Amino acid sequence: MKTEAVVLRSIRYGEADRILHVYTPMRGKLSAIAKGVRRSKSRFGGRLEPFFRLNLELHEGRSELMTVTGAETISAYTTLRADERALNGAARACDSLGRVFDSGEPHPEVFNLLCSALTLLDQNPEKATDEFQVAFRLKLLLAAGFAPQLAACASCGEVEELVGFSPAAGGVICASCEAGSFELDGETHRFLTAALASSLAQTPSADRRVISLADRAVSETAAHHGQVRFKAIA
Ligand SMILES: [Zn+2]
Repeated sequence: MKTEAVVLRSIRYGEADRILHVYTPMRGKLSAIAKGVRRSKSRFGGRLEPFFRLNLELHEGRSELMTVTGAETISAYTTLRADERALNGAARACDSLGRVFDSGEPHPEVFNLLCSALTLLDQNPEKATDEFQVAFRLKLLLAAGFAPQLAACASCGEVEELVGFSPAAGGVICASCEAGSFELDGETHRFLTAALASSLAQTPSADRRVISLADRAVSETAAHHGQVRFKAIA
């Protein structure tokens, strides 16, 4: 088969091989072995490294592990690759994606989200902020169908006096429904709403306290509704 793919992880295997974890638009997350890739004369060159966007040719054998038979670079994201912040940001985004979308289900919109995140970090390495990570995770949750409800009380629908966040209810909570919730102030509520609604490039900035509270809302929602454990952001 032929597919576009982004390399999420590339693990040394044996003397000269690599095992790749890649994300594809129509087959979700796949694993494939690239043989002889660490020899200096490998026809794959250095392109089977994390965050390369590739056109891959894969041979599907009987095992779950496919074999890479061809690879062409679509984008190497060379600026990202030369910037430690951006590299770290890309690694964290790929880690988050792999935790929410761990299967072979098709999610072309998630593939596009990943490519736009990599393009953004390549063009603006300084965008690799904690706010960016929270916004990226919110968009993953949206694609997975469990984005937090932010417009009205997740329990009763009230739109005024939203004072808390309930991971179990899956969103913000009003003063009369606050059982099982933690306090969420207006500033953090506005940050979450803006981060979910805007493009990654337009992610608003926020102070440490807001980021940490927003991270808690996102992480606990993911844990409660998707059995997903994100790594701590801050
Ligand atoms: Zn309520």
